[in-house]
Amino acid sequence: MSAEMNEPIEDVEAFRLRARAWIGENMGPPQRGDLVRYYPDDAEELAAVTRDRGLQRRLYDGGFAGICFPRAYGGLGLTPAHQRAFNEELAGREFPSRLTVPTFTPCAAVLLDFGTEEQKLRHIPAILRGDEIWCQLLSEPGGGSDVAGATTSAVQDGDHWVINGSKVWTSGAWWGDYALCLARTNWHVSKHQGLTVFIVKLHQPGLEIGRIERLDGSTESCQEFLTDVRVPDSDRVGDVNEGWVVGTRWMFHERVGHNSPLVTMAAGAFRGGSGEPYVVRIAREGGQLDDPRTRDLIGEARTLDLVGRHLLRRLALGVPSGKLSEHSPAVGRLFGGIAAVRQSTIAFEIAGGAAGTWAEDDGATADVGMRFLMRQAACMGGGTTEISRNVIAERMLGMPREPSMDRNVAFRDVPRGPRQTATTEA
Ligand SMILES: Cc1cc2nc3c(=O)[nH]c(=O)nc-3n(C[C@H](O)[C@H](O)[C@H](O)COP(=O)(O)OP(=O)(O)OC[C@H]3O[C@@H](n4cnc5c(N)ncnc54)[C@H](O)[C@@H]3O)c2cc1C
Repeated sequence: MSAEMNEPIEDVEAFRLRARAWIGENMGPPQRGDLVRYYPDDAEELAAVTRDRGLQRRLYDGGFAGICFPRAYGGLGLTPAHQRAFNEELAGREFPSRLTVPTFTPCAAVLLDFGTEEQKLRHIPAILRGDEIWCQLLSEPGGGSDVAGATTSAVQDGDHWVINGSKVWTSGAWWGDYALCLARTNWHVSKHQGLTVFIVKLHQPGLEIGRIERLDGSTESCQEFLTDVRVPDSDRVGDVNEGWVVGTRWMFHERVGHNSPLVTMAAGAFRGGSGEPYVVRIAREGGQLDDPRTRDLIGEARTLDLVGRHLLRRLALGVPSGKLSEHSPAVGRLFGGIAAVRQSTIAFEIAGGAAGTWAEDDGATADVGMRFLMRQAACMGGGTTEISRNVIAERMLGMPREPSMDRNVAFRDVPRGPRQTATTEA
């Protein structure tokens, strides 16, 4: 029985058959750029974003958006098993890839966990309709690893907050709509105690968005400069100075990422977008399927894939139910980063010379070189693997904590470089 509506929920297999029929009629093949994103110009990128919003709207109008979201906010109120069945039926099809992470998770997930009723009613249905794309204003120019060391400041002014500072590496901010922003609201307590989370509209006076060109030519990453940005108190998420409570859950949702039961995406999309695994397609196109060394590499890539998927699925369910420690997603984050680097390397080895140069219509090998070039990003985005190792060592294995200059010190007294000194410390 559905807990929220007290009426029977649809059997998973019946749902799967209904989804299969609908997907067959409504979702076409994936397009290049859905996952490996670099566009020759902004117009093309904006067209791709508009297409993703339209795909999300199609899911919503078809009655398949927000499978695990509560019905009260426009979702279907179903289970992770229903979401998994839908994703499996979606294998090899298009899906709104820009809305998976960070819009559905961690942002919508954080709103469900900590948002007020009014915030949820305002934003969750809009997200499910594809009307709102969300971003994460976390990392700062002074460093992204020490998230709790944020120096972007928020000062209360009546029923508003005034935010000043800079955030960086924000994926998709220039075409996004809203963001969750972690800001410092108290400088007189130690760093984890003086933080608060806000909903920030990305396009508004005082918020300047700069673009950063990455190694692959993508300018999806942005840097934001916030100057006296006014945010109503009704856009505060969680209690004042309790931002680390929200932040800890936020990191959990980010680490589970695409494996979250809140995310609709074609199963296997990261392995090439079709039922056939990416590395197998590369080997087949290169005529190497019978080569013993290639077969070994394919086996290794597939093993990493299977283990990673099951590990993250277990974490996605085990942490909210309290069966696993709230720090355990660090294990999934570490495994995911290492596995992604190795899988990019395996694909590059199998493709050989064909991965050095490619044309748009080169099939599976077209993106192998670029994925190899960008492979290290998998160990950075969403928090680095080095930080995951620290979390596992210190919080899960109980090893001695690394020396710290800022533990139990009022944050305003922590030595910082000039770039990290906020102009509006309160
Ligand atoms: C593809 C991609 C997308 C991203 N999207 C977003 C986004 O949407 N929003 C957002 O806010 N950020 C985003 N980021 C930024 C990302 O979260 C940061 O890059 C990451 O947290 C590391 O921060 P940093 O780059 O400032 O490195 P730093 O924190 O300066 O660290 C530099 C190096 O030192 C290591 N290091 C730092 N501290 C320690 C320590 N205590 N022990 C051991 N090693 C340490 C790090 O692991 C790293 O290798 C994205 C990054 C990438 C690559």
